[in-house]
Amino acid sequence: MLVMKFGGTSMEDANAIDRAAKIVRSRLPQRPVIVVSAMAKVTDQLLATARAAGAGDRDGALKLSRTLRERHYNVAGELLGTGLFTQFHGELESDFDALDELLRGIAAVGELTPRTADLVAANGELLSSKIAAAAFSARGLDSSLVDSREYIITDDTHGRALPFLEETNDKLKSTLQPLLDRGRVPVMGGFIGSTRSGTTTTIGRGGSDFSAAIVGAGLGAESIEIWTDVDGMMTTDPNLCPDAHRIKVISFDEAAELAYFGAKVLHPATLLPAIQKNIPVYILNSRHPEGEGTKITTRAPRCRNLFKAIAVKKRITIVDVAATRMLMVHGYLKSIFEAFDRHRVPVDVVSTSEVSVSLTVDSNEAIPALAADLSRLADVKYEGRKAIVCLVGENLRETPGVAARIFGVIPDLNIRMISQGASEINLTFVIEEDQAPDVVKRLHQAFFSEVDPEVFD
Ligand code: ADP
Ligand code: ASP
Ligand code: MG
Repeated sequence: MLVMKFGGTSMEDANAIDRAAKIVRSRLPQRPVIVVSAMAKVTDQLLATARAAGAGDRDGALKLSRTLRERHYNVAGELLGTGLFTQFHGELESDFDALDELLRGIAAVGELTPRTADLVAANGELLSSKIAAAAFSARGLDSSLVDSREYIITDDTHGRALPFLEETNDKLKSTLQPLLDRGRVPVMGGFIGSTRSGTTTTIGRGGSDFSAAIVGAGLGAESIEIWTDVDGMMTTDPNLCPDAHRIKVISFDEAAELAYFGAKVLHPATLLPAIQKNIPVYILNSRHPEGEGTKITTRAPRCRNLFKAIAVKKRITIVDVAATRMLMVHGYLKSIFEAFDRHRVPVDVVSTSEVSVSLTVDSNEAIPALAADLSRLADVKYEGRKAIVCLVGENLRETPGVAARIFGVIPDLNIRMISQGASEINLTFVIEEDQAPDVVKRLHQAFFSEVDPEVFD
């Protein structure tokens, strides 16, 4: 079987969902399970609605919800036609009535907890999966709507919950497999799950890719297809460099580094379940379904270019921790990392000197409390508006002089941190955020103006 995931832009309106139905039809012999995102921008809008309600702005929240209601009614109406929509309309109506009831409750309390934010945000995928399943059925596909919250079982870290894979796999096998065996096309929302006690959770922004991989690994899929709005994984974000090239084949390791360091086309957690089961992942463009996309697989062919791609991750903060009292005594680094752990702040890049440690983090809210905690150990300074630039390629393992070649392209730049060697296939550095677009363009020009036709398009 096959898992096909359609992202927000591939679900953005009636035309996009109609295209998705055609793409699904072309894969029917492979017995697909469909994982869908919320329609484009809906998760952002739902969260804005929830925040308005949390700030006590009941009318503002209900107004935003009305806009969302109209958009979903319009898309469903266009897809289903008057006859079918009349039956379906009642279902959407009660979903939106329940959402409004929830928003009134949040506004009355005047507080938005992560748990309630998840309850609001989950509506995006609940609605899009319902509409897609109805639209697919109306187009003659035997689809079955599946509520992901019954199958994707997670911990209770609301907003970025982690799945319990064994329980999830058992549930997926015992319920989705029989549907597939009966020739049905299960349609489920990505991004959402629930705790063991049935509370709705979400698994992190952009997490529908991860959902697709969880389902693929759980059901032993032959492949996982991520349908999006670009031709595949590209040599850099095509929004930044329109001349970016499609990468035909890339290794799991390379793609994972790129996803982790900002290539938004793939959620960073996506590949882990796929790697564990050795399932190839394809990135494909739902606007050009005939394209070959990118294949992500265990072993990629050798490549004449030094790098496969450049990723950039913005909104990074550097935290400098300079030892005062403990002067690198045994256990000093441990106590620093424990503080990050206590505040649940993940660290991306680290560099150390005799007396100080610099770390980068991408979550801003927790930093003041973390810094206060760390200041018991050391002098702490933090500075936002930085960007991580990451160049990735298997060739880095055996090529000497890589750093000189990279920094030779940008000799005028003040590099704040450099890291190489952790994975052997990436070189990562930190610069001012406003310099990132120019730096990426210059590096892309230097390393990708000529490409190996075996590997790039
Ligand atoms: P979806 O809604 O389908 O999940 P996303 O917006 O999450 O889509 O991801 C697709 C976007 O990722 C592209 O439109 C592109 O701007 C961005 N992107 C960033 N880096 C890359 C890259 N290296 N290759 C392709 N796309 C990239
Ligand atoms: N809809 C969710 C988001 O916007 C998940 C996803 O699209 O992958 O973050
Ligand atoms: Mg995405």
